[in-house]
Amino acid sequence: MPTLDFAWFFGSIVILLVVGDFASTFFYHVPQHVWEKLHLREHHDKSRSYWDHSIVSRDPMIVLDGLLGALPYFAIAALLMTFGRAAIAGAIVGLLIGRLHVLYRHTCELGWSSPRWLVRFGASAALVLPEDHQGHHDDPDAEFGDLFRFYDAPARAFIRFARNRLRRQRRLLRIRAFRASRIR
Ligand SMILES: [Zn+2]
Ligand SMILES: [Zn+2]
Repeated sequence: MPTLDFAWFFGSIVILLVVGDFASTFFYHVPQHVWEKLHLREHHDKSRSYWDHSIVSRDPMIVLDGLLGALPYFAIAALLMTFGRAAIAGAIVGLLIGRLHVLYRHTCELGWSSPRWLVRFGASAALVLPEDHQGHHDDPDAEFGDLFRFYDAPARAFIRFARNRLRRQRRLLRIRAFRASRIR
């Protein structure tokens, strides 16, 4: 039925982007900021222009960071593709939109400046504009979420919680090591 196909097509695009952004933010991006180094070294290297060394030069480590960040989107696309032709088409279009948005959100380095109507629209639709993502490059502890800004607040809250836990664990380990050294 054509109406059902229409729903599957657009539904798949929305699911891919919304759930994909959630999964990529909380299963890759946020853990990288708390526990790992690859993303911080490659995506947040302030000594190089992100546009030049990632979009243009294809540095293998930054391709790896990009691929790992895209994996959750691929997994959701693969799942959606089991629901028929319209869902397959929607998943592919969703992946393309996601890829184009990677390029788009890094255009501040090329001098992009969003017109006022787009800033208003982005704010009301909670969309990440290049200026928002530039905020994440300027301050790696701000502006999480690839496409949608509603993931930013929970991501920052989780990072605060995880870092506090890490600090507590390290303090505990230091105390235990100190006690063990006094017993010996
Ligand atoms: Zn970026
Ligand atoms: Zn980051």
